[in-house]
Amino acid sequence: MKLYNRSLIPDEALHPALVKAGRLVGARTRDVVVRVNGNWRNHVSHGVFWNRKFVDKNWLEGKRRDWTTHLYCTATAPPMVETDGGMIELWIGLRQGLINIQSFPTLYSTYSAAEKLVKQFFSTAIHEWKHIADYQNGEVFSGYGQVGAGSRRPNWDVRPEEIRACDTVHRVLAKGDGLQLFPEVLAPLVESIETILSERRDE
Ligand SMILES: [Zn+2]
Repeated sequence: MKLYNRSLIPDEALHPALVKAGRLVGARTRDVVVRVNGNWRNHVSHGVFWNRKFVDKNWLEGKRRDWTTHLYCTATAPPMVETDGGMIELWIGLRQGLINIQSFPTLYSTYSAAEKLVKQFFSTAIHEWKHIADYQNGEVFSGYGQVGAGSRRPNWDVRPEEIRACDTVHRVLAKGDGLQLFPEVLAPLVESIETILSERRDE
């Protein structure tokens, strides 16, 4: 896995959990680009899948894009990273975790807030990895123009690939949440997020 980690969480904690999520759905994880962001702004954990073969390296590293590289006549193309079956971008809702421990201290310890984030993050990761696995298996995604009237994409909740991905998450986590089923990869993630949350809380 080609991990581009833009969160405060150490790679050693993120990497095994993400590879686990990919293998659970039968994806080839080795050459897939995954970018992770710690979300301090507004949202809870969420993710996005992009079906592409190459990703702009500067964008992955969060560098400002030089707009001239998008003109036809530039001498050098932007550096690209190859990916196997699309790329995933994930956000961990760290701000939501912080809000939970500050606003609901009787409900959330730093640990339980971190646990909640990891559960969300892990199921989001499984969902996005399922898209990768589908794309690696040559699935066609419901794109623009493929669905008749108005050539719009169907709404998110009726797209076959989304139904498949949601079903997969439910199937994988049918017998318990991620923390119960895969503590060996997720407990270290909880601990590192707990550390981040407790440091921020004290600021
Ligand atoms: Zn999806």
